Amino acid sequence: SSAVRIVEKQLDEILAIARNPAQIRNAGTLAHVDHGKTTTTDSLLMGAGLLSPKVAGKALAMDFVAIEQLRQMTVKAANISLYFEYGGKPYLVNFVDTPGHVDFTGHVTRSLRVMDGGLVVVDSVEGVMTQTETVVRQALEEYVRPVLFINKIDRLIKELRLSPQEIQQRILTIVKDFNALIDMFAPPEFKDKWKVDPAKGQVALGSALHKWGITIPMAQKAGLKFSNIVDAYEKGYVDKLGEEFPLYKTLLTMIIEHVPPPNVAQKYRIPRLWRGDLNSEVGKAMLEADPNGPTVIAVSKVNKDPHAGLIATGRVFSGTIREGDEVYIIGRKMKKKVLQTYIYMGPTRIIVPYMPAGNIVALMGVDEARAGDTLVDPRLTEVPPFEKMRYIAEPVVTVA
Ligand code: GDP
Repeated sequence: SSAVRIVEKQLDEILAIARNPAQIRNAGTLAHVDHGKTTTTDSLLMGAGLLSPKVAGKALAMDFVAIEQLRQMTVKAANISLYFEYGGKPYLVNFVDTPGHVDFTGHVTRSLRVMDGGLVVVDSVEGVMTQTETVVRQALEEYVRPVLFINKIDRLIKELRLSPQEIQQRILTIVKDFNALIDMFAPPEFKDKWKVDPAKGQVALGSALHKWGITIPMAQKAGLKFSNIVDAYEKGYVDKLGEEFPLYKTLLTMIIEHVPPPNVAQKYRIPRLWRGDLNSEVGKAMLEADPNGPTVIAVSKVNKDPHAGLIATGRVFSGTIREGDEVYIIGRKMKKKVLQTYIYMGPTRIIVPYMPAGNIVALMGVDEARAGDTLVDPRLTEVPPFEKMRYIAEPVVTVA
């Protein structure tokens, strides 16, 4: 585990995107165990890198960071920023690490705090299961918008031998069950808005194993029918599906289109997550994700680095955190100096001079901070911290 410096041109490109909230998304993958969270996340990381292919190519030529090598390493970890071009514009999609399954330590909820959207992976054979319900409910409690990826479509064809009509029926049933969860657990103002509609591209279906994925609008545009997908499996041209409809592109497109950017999400998430005065300077800055406001960072995770000590990862809700800044750890009544700031790429950290509001940042120097802590501008020692997260117990499952 180490930190790397990248060439100025790359850095400039990343910072230009990071400064524009409209081009940032913060999301993570959520799933019932074995439904394909790891495989899905891997295909995202393999498909899209941190840097634009153009600039990454130049970097390789200059022998600075071996981008491919970096990418290989990141596949094993999940905290990563991905570069993706959509509608002619570059986006930074920060993928937050979420634990492999629902646990009893509140790790899922801590990850949820720093994301605005959750990609919920559902196995098409098994459908919506108990842990799907738990993660969707936890996401909604934190005002995180869930979007749906129906995975393992290959199993419907190869194992269950369903007809195109039956596949369609199965998908509609999963969408219905998923929307029933939204209806049950979403905040009242989002019950209707956050239900997913396949016709609007809010549901993706595909196979993480075979790396293809589509939404209904994409399929319609390309003239692709369910019968063509069945044919691809029966006649052995699944690879072509993966080339024409790469899963990472479909999922990143869905996330960019349907997960709100941080400045939009903070307007409704801050009143829910933070109990301070919304009309105060810091309250207003958080609602706007103002990079010029006072610094407020919610820590989601602390990792140990053999060389750098403890690295705290969190979301900048207001202000801009810079190398050398002092921060106050609320609750621990302690002032600490930030020695270095990074964006996290799995085990590798890219050194950045600063990170503005709306982004995920990793910090060296705040060793006393723990997951769940709030870091603020030292002038704000009286500011209330973020709400404690509510742990939602899993529904009781009877083992057959
Ligand atoms: P996680 O527990 O949600 O992280 O699930 P994994 O990604 O580890 O996947 C669980 C199992 O399902 C593994 O054996 C995967 O290879 C398999 N799997 C994942 N995606 C697919 C898929 O699209 N089709 C099929 N047939 N298997 C898949």
